[in-house]
Amino acid sequence: MKKHNFAAGPSILSPYTIQHTAEGVLDLNQSGLSIMEISHRSKDFMAIMDETQQLFKDLLDIPSGYSVLLLGGGASMQFCMVPYNLLNTKAAYLDTGAWANKAIKEAKIFGEVDVVASSKESTYSHIPRDYKVPGDADYFHITTNNTIYGTEIKEDMDCAVNLVADMSSDIFSRPVDVSKYAMIYGGAQKNLAPAGVTFVIIKDDILGKVDRAIPSMLDYRIHIDKDSMFNTPPCLPIYAAMHTLRWYKEQGGVEAMYKRNIEKARKLYDEIDRNSLFVSGIENVDDRSIMNVTFVMKDEFKEKEADFLAFATEKGMSGLKGHRSVGGFRASIYNAMPQSSVEALIETMKAFEKKI
Ligand SMILES: *Cc1c(COP(=O)(O)O)cnc(C)c1O
Repeated sequence: MKKHNFAAGPSILSPYTIQHTAEGVLDLNQSGLSIMEISHRSKDFMAIMDETQQLFKDLLDIPSGYSVLLLGGGASMQFCMVPYNLLNTKAAYLDTGAWANKAIKEAKIFGEVDVVASSKESTYSHIPRDYKVPGDADYFHITTNNTIYGTEIKEDMDCAVNLVADMSSDIFSRPVDVSKYAMIYGGAQKNLAPAGVTFVIIKDDILGKVDRAIPSMLDYRIHIDKDSMFNTPPCLPIYAAMHTLRWYKEQGGVEAMYKRNIEKARKLYDEIDRNSLFVSGIENVDDRSIMNVTFVMKDEFKEKEADFLAFATEKGMSGLKGHRSVGGFRASIYNAMPQSSVEALIETMKAFEKKI
């Protein structure tokens, strides 16, 4: 039986993506060959690469002057590629969680890092709002969705310096004004494809401003120049990503995804707030993520957490255990998560409340 998959990443993909990717694994376009065994320079694969990049541009309305790269290495590789390519003297970072923290750690290798604000002392349960980005920073780095803690920056902020965003876990979940960002990047395994491909949306004219030599594989200019084909790209995850993006388009694009996502999130948060057993980890409603919904059991029911997980597992739910640094529960309700699975979780929460 298919499970209700609430995993944080790698995570749920649409049946459309899985079905079409499986077909291409067995036989790509009736070629008698698998997507896994053809050259990345073949006509078939070049068409897949082109269409995937074009779908990024169409769905996110990416203005001219930006490139879309599909690389290996994960979002974590970007934690070092960003400062390697962009940090000359000083960069500003917003510390909103474990991933932001890892990005900060890498940047410190390359220069001065000004952490303009941090919510670490409150276990990252809110998004800091009072801070100033120094005007002489080479860029300002933010993590728009904090996958582990369940907070999210939902507006595209105005920023006087180059704004760089890790959107690993909320890309395509809402409309984004790409023109406000110098760069957006993320791993695929939350809202796009199986793990293995990383997207980078980058404004071409921010490059070439640092003094250091950059190894070819870490140099955005080389990847732009070679159209993400400097080395063998992750062909299979790119193929899967293409199908996810086709499906988004078919469903009405990012606007339609956003409508569904806020509806799913609203229902689930309403139940968390209503249910006498649970409490949201995120007090400020504006900061609550529409992708990763974190909640815990109220103090008086704490010893029932394992029981609830077992109860939910019995009902066909998977991946609900919260990250080890937070505890409790985390329901990741990415784009591919149907309304019906969110409703099933809500019913399970209600049933458990009755049972206790
Ligand atoms: C999952 C995640 C990462 C790490 O991605 P990798 O591809 O495993 O390197 C980084 N940032 C955020 C916000 C994430 O959710």
